Amino acid sequence: MTDFLKEAQEMQKELVHWRRDFHIHPELGFEEFRTAEIVNTYLQSLGIETRTGVGKTGVIGLVRGLQDGPTVMIRFDMDALPIQEENDTDYCSKTPGKFHGCGHDGHTAMGMGVAQLLAKHRDSFSGTVLLVFQPAEEKGAGAKAMIDDGAIDDPRPDYALGIHLHSQTPAGVFQIGDGPILSAADSFQARITGKGGHGAEPHDTIDATVIAAYIVTQLQTVISRNVDPLDMAVISVGSLKAGNTHNVIAEVADLQGTIRTYRKQTQELVHQRIRSIIEGTAKVMGGKGEVNFNKLLPATVNDPAVSARVRETVAKLVGWENISTNQQSTPSDDVAYFLEKAPGCYFVLGAARCENDYPHHNPKFDWDETVMPLGVAALCMAVADLLPAVQ
Ligand SMILES: [Zn+2]
Ligand SMILES: [Zn+2]
Repeated sequence: MTDFLKEAQEMQKELVHWRRDFHIHPELGFEEFRTAEIVNTYLQSLGIETRTGVGKTGVIGLVRGLQDGPTVMIRFDMDALPIQEENDTDYCSKTPGKFHGCGHDGHTAMGMGVAQLLAKHRDSFSGTVLLVFQPAEEKGAGAKAMIDDGAIDDPRPDYALGIHLHSQTPAGVFQIGDGPILSAADSFQARITGKGGHGAEPHDTIDATVIAAYIVTQLQTVISRNVDPLDMAVISVGSLKAGNTHNVIAEVADLQGTIRTYRKQTQELVHQRIRSIIEGTAKVMGGKGEVNFNKLLPATVNDPAVSARVRETVAKLVGWENISTNQQSTPSDDVAYFLEKAPGCYFVLGAARCENDYPHHNPKFDWDETVMPLGVAALCMAVADLLPAVQ
C-alpha cells in the first residue's frame, strides 16, 4: 500500500516553495491568471489532461486511473483578498492592497501536491479524479461560474471533497463534521412607505420611521420565538435609512439585512416570518411594507456517509485524538454548490502557529506551513478509499 504521508512529507520543500510564490504574487477573484498558468503548466508536466479558462480563470485537471470507475472531485480555491498585508516575512505580498489572507495559497499548493501523487499512482486506482482549481471563492462567485461553464458535466463527480486551512485550530487537527457545516447567506431589502409631512403635525402623516423602528424590534423575535431552539439562524439589520432633517416626517424608510441559516426549512420559515412582520406591521400602522430576498449562497452540507469514511481515513493518518466532528460555523463558502451536486465532505485542517493566532482575513494572518503534507496525504488517502483499487 502507498505511504501517502511519507511521499507528501518528501515534497514539503516544493509545497512551501509553491505556497510562498503564490503568497508573494496574490491575485483577486477572476484575476488568477498567473496562478492558473502555474497550476496548468505543472499539471501538464505530470501528464495530466487539463482545461483552462473554466469559469474565467479556473483550471480543471483530469487524472484517469488504470480502469474505469467512479469520479471524485476535489476543489482548491486560488484567490486572494483586497487587504494590505501587515506581516514582515521574506515571502510577504509584493502587491500593495492584495494579500492571501485566507490560506488559499496553501490550498493551491496542496492541490499541486495532490496532483503529483495521484498522477504517480494512477495505475493503482479505478476511476477518475477531477482536480478543480477554482477562482473567486471570496466573491462567492467562482464555483457557480465553473459549474455554469461545464466544469463538472463530463465526467460528473460521484463524490466531492475539499479542504480549508484554519489559523485558529491547532496544527494537525482535522475538523470533519456531518450535515450542515457552513451557513446559507441571504440578504433582504425592505421599503416602508407612509405619508410624509410636518414634524409638528404628525396626525396628518404616516410616519415611516416609527413603522421601521417597530419592524426592527419585531424582527428580533423571529430567532427567539419562531426558530427551533436546537437549530440556529441569524438575522441582522445592517442598514436603516429614513428622513433627512429634524422637522420633516419621513415618507419612506429603507432597511437592509443579512440572514444566515443551516437548513432549507429554517431558511423558508425565516423568510416567511420576515415578510409577514414587514408587510403586517406596516399595514396595521397605515403604511405599506415591501421586501425582497436575495439568496447569495446555499449552506455547505457534508454527506454523513462520506464524512464518516473521510474520518476513518484521516484517523489512520493522525489518530482519532486529532479529529473533531465539531465543524459548524456561520461563515459561508461557495464549495456549497459542488456539495449540492455530489455527496461529499469539506473539512478543515488546523494550522495555528500558536494559541490565539490571528484570524482569517486579518492583515497579520499567517499559518503553519508544516501541515501541508498532512492535507495532501489526507486527500490522496480519501481518494484511494473512495475509488476501488485495481484488481
Ligand atoms: Zn476567506
Ligand atoms: Zn477561505
